[in-house]
Amino acid sequence: MSKLVIQGTVLTPEDGDAYAAAIRRNSDLSQLPAKLVAQPVTYTDVVDIIAYAKSQTPPIEVAVKGGGAHPATWASSDGGIVVDLSKLKDVTVLTDKKSVVVQGGALWGDVYEVLSKEELDVVGSPLWFVGVGGYTLGGGYGPLSGTHGLAIDNLLSATVILADGRIVEASANSEPELFWAIRGGGGQFGLVVEFTFKLYPSSGPYGTGVIVYPGDEMENVIKVIQGWKAGQTPFERFTINFSRSAPHWKPSIVMLPWVAHDENGERSKTVLKPFLDGPIKPVFQRLATVPNMLVVSHGADASLGTAPRRLSIRGTLFSDFFPELLLGVWQRWVEFTEGNEDVRSSTVIWDLTSPKKLAEINVADTALKTRVPHYWMVVQGRSTTDASTPTANDFAKSITSYVREKNATLSGTDLGFFVNMAGGDEPPETVFGEQLPRLRRAKARYDPGNFWTKGFPIEPARD
Ligand SMILES: Cc1cc2nc3c(=O)[nH]c(=O)nc-3n(C[C@H](O)[C@H](O)[C@H](O)COP(=O)(O)OP(=O)(O)OC[C@H]3O[C@@H](n4cnc5c(N)ncnc54)[C@H](O)[C@@H]3O)c2cc1C
Repeated sequence: MSKLVIQGTVLTPEDGDAYAAAIRRNSDLSQLPAKLVAQPVTYTDVVDIIAYAKSQTPPIEVAVKGGGAHPATWASSDGGIVVDLSKLKDVTVLTDKKSVVVQGGALWGDVYEVLSKEELDVVGSPLWFVGVGGYTLGGGYGPLSGTHGLAIDNLLSATVILADGRIVEASANSEPELFWAIRGGGGQFGLVVEFTFKLYPSSGPYGTGVIVYPGDEMENVIKVIQGWKAGQTPFERFTINFSRSAPHWKPSIVMLPWVAHDENGERSKTVLKPFLDGPIKPVFQRLATVPNMLVVSHGADASLGTAPRRLSIRGTLFSDFFPELLLGVWQRWVEFTEGNEDVRSSTVIWDLTSPKKLAEINVADTALKTRVPHYWMVVQGRSTTDASTPTANDFAKSITSYVREKNATLSGTDLGFFVNMAGGDEPPETVFGEQLPRLRRAKARYDPGNFWTKGFPIEPARD
């Protein structure tokens, strides 16, 4: 076997800690033992890696790692090459300050680091360690989606390296079909080395923090959420967590607010009033006003830092915060986490961001299948032992299926699953819906030999 030589670094298992760090993922369950990890520092390095992989007999599998946050094993490879983009993470604000060019291996924290100094905002992840690459190619729901839509709705262009080694510009005017496919279709069309996003003046400072209610208030909390939601504007949102934590491990409802334009904490006081001074009183609250998204994105560091590393993450979409749906999941989660100490830190997370803006885009304009107003939720099955891992995985799978089915019954619409929070084994039809035939045609055009195999299978159309 010939040797892979690039200007960047190539690591093998013999490289010890450096190799171990390079194959590490957000969840231990997403990690596979790559034969080689290639860390390009130039775009031609990527072209050389592709050529090398194809020249082997048989051709060697190539996986691409952006931030390594995805729950599936797509950014890892068992015996193949991982292209680890961590050395391609420059972030450049263009002189008119209306757009930013972000390299394909940047994390959202890298982006916020630069934008916070310029008092600018972009639609990105609420957490710093999520990669710009995977997040954007899967759609990209963020705190600013209420005002500006999804990450893909703010993507102006991308520089993509195709399986045949060509480096192409994808935008509304250049390779428009590729531009359509990478906005929601995932990473199976090419390796994106640059994304250019629209920028906005910052909507900070931001009110953030935590408000906790005891589990026996669940029904009342749902009533407060319903009332609050009726007057919700795009400038405030919540993440709602079903959670147990030490030392008591009692079921709790943990509400994480985000309030834009929170000068001196004034908007938070008004917007969060129903949750602080309403019919139910929190057992704990800690609120703060922080200057920018960089600080917001580090808000969960302490709690995530202590979470078990065996994470089975799966999510799905839902149409509304139906009390019956929330209560059904609550009962199942309480029962599951009550019975087994190994999995009791498993959580269920509901995203309550105003969905109007993301529904303003025509469904044919991007590859994302769901453009009716909707929300997303995710289950984090957390296990402290290998023995309990299948149980946590089954739980995540059964709850997301339950939410999908129950939501379909209550709303009359089956929203299916979505790329960013998929387990990876969902049928592609349930993730891409009616977009799948067009995605298959785009695949036939840009990757006819099916070189990029990691991700949901999108078979190149043969007609
Ligand atoms: C704690 C947590 C919170 C999250 N919160 C949100 C959220 O609020 N909103 C949301 O939408 N999603 C969220 N996600 C999901 C996240 O967006 C996806 O998991 C996303 O795929 C992560 O991107 P990544 O680059 O870190 O992932 P990776 O695991 O590195 O990659 C995921 C997929 O994208 C491909 N890929 C990555 N970069 C590139 C590139 N440059 N070119 C081509 N292909 C590439 C990979 O090959 C792989 O198939 C969250 C995930 C976690 C773990």
